[in-house]
Amino acid sequence: MPRTDVMLADHRLAAAQESLGRGLVKAAVVAAQQRVRDGLALPDEAVEAALALLPGTACGLQPVVNATGVLVHTNLGRAPLSPAAVAAVTAAADYTDVEFDLAGGRRARRGRTALAALAEAVPRARAVHLVNNNAAALVLAATALARGKEIVISRGELVEIGDGFRLPDLLESTGARLREVGTTNRTTLDDYAKACGPETGFLLKVHPSNFRIEGFTSEVSVEQLATLGPPVVADIGSGLLRPEPLLPGEPDADTALRQGAALVTASGDKLLGGPQAGLLLGDADIVERLRRHPLARALRVDKLTLAAIEATLRGPRPPLHRSLHTSVAELRERAERLARRLGTRAEAVATTARVGGGGAPGVELPSAGIAVDQELAVRLRANDPPVVGRVTDGRLVLDLRAVDPAQDEVILAAVERACR
Ligand SMILES: *Cc1c(COP(=O)(O)O)cnc(C)c1O
Repeated sequence: MPRTDVMLADHRLAAAQESLGRGLVKAAVVAAQQRVRDGLALPDEAVEAALALLPGTACGLQPVVNATGVLVHTNLGRAPLSPAAVAAVTAAADYTDVEFDLAGGRRARRGRTALAALAEAVPRARAVHLVNNNAAALVLAATALARGKEIVISRGELVEIGDGFRLPDLLESTGARLREVGTTNRTTLDDYAKACGPETGFLLKVHPSNFRIEGFTSEVSVEQLATLGPPVVADIGSGLLRPEPLLPGEPDADTALRQGAALVTASGDKLLGGPQAGLLLGDADIVERLRRHPLARALRVDKLTLAAIEATLRGPRPPLHRSLHTSVAELRERAERLARRLGTRAEAVATTARVGGGGAPGVELPSAGIAVDQELAVRLRANDPPVVGRVTDGRLVLDLRAVDPAQDEVILAAVERACR
């Protein structure tokens, strides 16, 4: 059995220690020695085996091919960053002028260029601010504007976001009281009007972004709420800045502000296609109150987020935009090409993709993919990189709508390997 120190001294494993650190390389060496002990590799193949077992980066997160047909998949990290955003993150990873005025040699407003990009993207917003995520944006708004007071909200909009986290609990954790009005399916302007008074901090309009109520329903628009007096905070969820014709039911920041919202909150990593972040857009005095609140410091975004948000806003359209807008004809062509090359192992199929928990519930996006034996699911998830599909009607479907066309070859190779 080759000794650990001898293996670690091999020039390739020594080079790997420069990029991965000693601990991860040593773990690969130990695993390779085990393979030798188990008879899975010969002693003189131990270094090769260790090299094959090295992780791609010093981080346990693995890049994954999202063939689920769910564009904004929370378990898969929501939106993939654009190459422009990745480049910006890499550049900002070093020392950076995030909070420094290079011309004057003084402290400067943190993230000013990212904030300027957001303000330019939504000119109707008098002021903008960025926090860690949309939940943080809501906590900051509730704390700064309604602590010890009431947030008036429709019973139809008391949403659970996911993983057991519920917006009502989040809002009440700030010391604000919820004043629930209306019923699950119907809430009228009069319901809100009766609840408004000296105790009102703000009226909250939450987009039910992960479910849909159909049938005998009525809800009150931001426009109507804005006639009542107290500020209206609109949680639009998905982060669309302008209307998206493909998703007619999905609210957007510009429209909510035009309709009279004093403050709009949204996520950065849903339909905006950027990093995890919370967008706050609205009246200058309200945004300034949030920005100056002590809690704002605890919710402040990292320089990497600032870099990624700005590049998402200023750079080319992010991958999510391509996923949403690719024609079904193009997807079908890709699926057929894959199926042709895989022969009997795969069949091109018409599928239905979705935006996902991030928005547009109920919207079906016509899509295409390949169907393979369901038994391949485990092996495809163990592929490098892992390919994640969804099981439908006893088969594993690999939906191409959220897949970068450059990854079709990865899917092809993964299925071929999994079939062996
Ligand atoms: C997703 C979502 C949230 C939570 O946003 P995070 O950025 O994940 O914190 C809150 N409200 C609505 C309406 C959402 O869709």
